[in-house]
Amino acid sequence: MDSMMGIEVCSEILRPAYLLAQQASGFQFAGGPLMPSEHSSDEEPPEWAMRDEQWTIDGLLGCYDANQQRITIFNKGIEVIAPKFGLQPEFLEMIVKVHEYGHSIFHLGMMQPEITSILGMPPQGKERMVADTLRMRTETYNEVARYVHEQIAQGITKIVLINLRASATKEQSRNVCDKMIEAFNALMRRQPEEYRLDCLAHLTHEQLGKRLHKFIVLTHRGALTPDRGVWDTIMAW
Ligand SMILES: [Zn+2]
Repeated sequence: MDSMMGIEVCSEILRPAYLLAQQASGFQFAGGPLMPSEHSSDEEPPEWAMRDEQWTIDGLLGCYDANQQRITIFNKGIEVIAPKFGLQPEFLEMIVKVHEYGHSIFHLGMMQPEITSILGMPPQGKERMVADTLRMRTETYNEVARYVHEQIAQGITKIVLINLRASATKEQSRNVCDKMIEAFNALMRRQPEEYRLDCLAHLTHEQLGKRLHKFIVLTHRGALTPDRGVWDTIMAW
């Protein structure tokens, strides 16, 4: 960490990624198996050999495994890529974590009344309800087109970065946020089109947040086919 970086600045920006993803999406994690675990790995990421060419966040920097509800951060990828985008590793890791929590909140995120009703059940009923919910959500998640998954994770990340910038009270925090937003945009340009948000660039961040939230609700209800055509129609008009 830069010695010039004050502790107040760090505490304004380096907030728990799951909280930021919850706030940006309007969903919450119920906890237990309905909340992902977070790990960091020193292994070679799957796209390590492509680190000088075109890679993806999920192949080089982090990944989300929906079948195990598990987020992994690839330290090697973070350390190599951060300086290329003028960021300290901590801030790139933050962007990547939020992206992975974006996948997970789409998978497991719930509305507060739903969580309250599950948590209020007697233990046996609660356990069964959690297991059923997890199974159904995972089935739904696995049916969604890869394009839509990445658009959702990137959309949530964009909203988080804008929210962080808006809530930063210190000049230095705002500067760090600006650098993170710049790096996020530069990262997008380095990745395949499913990671780019060009089609949604005309939306205000409130519009983006509302539409994302609705899209996720409708997907959970099985009320729409979560493929690219539907995404582009609903999200980008
Ligand atoms: Zn992703």
